[in-house]
Amino acid sequence: MARTYKILGLIGDGIAEEIVPEAVKILEAAEERFGFNLELIGPYPFGAKYYLDSGKKSSWHPEITRELIYEADGIFKGPVGLPSVMEDEKLNYQMGFLPVSLRSELDLYANVRPCRLRPGVESPLAGKKAGDIDFVVVRENTEHCLAEATHFGGIRDISGYFVRAGKIGFSADVFIQTPEGCERVIRYAFDLARKRNGAPSDGRRRVTCACKWGLLRGDTLFKKTFDAVASDYPDVEATRAWIDGWTYWAVMKPGYYDVVVTPNQYGDIISDLGGALQGSLGLAAALNAGDKHAFAEATHGSAPDIAGKNVANPISLILSVGMLLEWIGEKRGDSRLVAAGKGVDRAVDAVLSESKVRTPDLGGSSTTQQVGDAIAERIRSLGS
Ligand code: NAD
Repeated sequence: MARTYKILGLIGDGIAEEIVPEAVKILEAAEERFGFNLELIGPYPFGAKYYLDSGKKSSWHPEITRELIYEADGIFKGPVGLPSVMEDEKLNYQMGFLPVSLRSELDLYANVRPCRLRPGVESPLAGKKAGDIDFVVVRENTEHCLAEATHFGGIRDISGYFVRAGKIGFSADVFIQTPEGCERVIRYAFDLARKRNGAPSDGRRRVTCACKWGLLRGDTLFKKTFDAVASDYPDVEATRAWIDGWTYWAVMKPGYYDVVVTPNQYGDIISDLGGALQGSLGLAAALNAGDKHAFAEATHGSAPDIAGKNVANPISLILSVGMLLEWIGEKRGDSRLVAAGKGVDRAVDAVLSESKVRTPDLGGSSTTQQVGDAIAERIRSLGS
């Protein structure tokens, strides 16, 4: 009997309510075109709205999702965050750790965030055309500044506010890096470079380690581990950049970069820069990947400034679910899902290059649904 793949959807807040249904459309179109079976579970609420709707009595998502995250072959999730919750420090902290805890819980150590200038899209960098920018940020995803969500006992006790005479005396955040945590994500980056075509400017397969070694011990461990792992990949060029310098060169010579591996917080920041370089955060896809589980999630947040207006660009999440299909296909040895993942990417390029259907962030006037419909239709008519 043909295998059915279980895909769990989690909604989120703000524009998530608009872009998640478009991701569902894409999964259904891919299933039809590539001939595999999906069981779509949910999408279930997940985030601040669910919590507020329950009168702040419940958790941030239905109880059932706790088990479903382990059972699913893959998960996709909209961004979380509502302004009213952001104003409350305690609640904002809990909300911020929702996706972080999911990554830690499922041990999704690599957050893979592509940045490619696509056909028909204008970059804010003058003179750049499609293909001139094409790199992937591989963000370490379970350690560094977000170590509080890891399973190291005691970390929470040594971070926070330290109070003297009723006032904050100092604050402390703990950044940790483990040799194993560094090694696995760096290997992920080198393996990814082997599957790619190299940097746009010279075609060379290249992994760049971006952090602040020398000054920070954790980053020094990251870079030492990088140097050791690099010697196992003589066919891939290994380069190093301080993270501050990297942001300069990413704007001045983005075509030099192929794969960039970096500790957690830097990855978070530079992938928003990647969103800008590729023309909009609304195109910025991401996959949180581990050895056994993965979840798709756009790079951006819940965009309260445009939520409810039906103008959010769904392509970020659409590309993310495409990455998820490819990941499941590779892990389960099913070429149909790998082809579907690549097909989603091709369909997005086709729709963008026509320049007819696009949301306002890309200079158009189409709605979120019109973009989702156009890409779904394109997937259904894809040739082999
Ligand atoms: P944001 O990423 O939501 O928005 C930044 C800018 O990009 C806004 O102008 C927004 O309109 C635009 N933008 C983002 N996605 C877009 C899309 N798909 N189409 C068109 N334009 C888009 O950043 P923010 O405003 O700093 O954060 C808002 C909320 O999101 C906060 O509560 C934050 O904590 C949360 N957040 C959640 C996640 C997550 O769930 N993983 C990640 C980042 C931020």
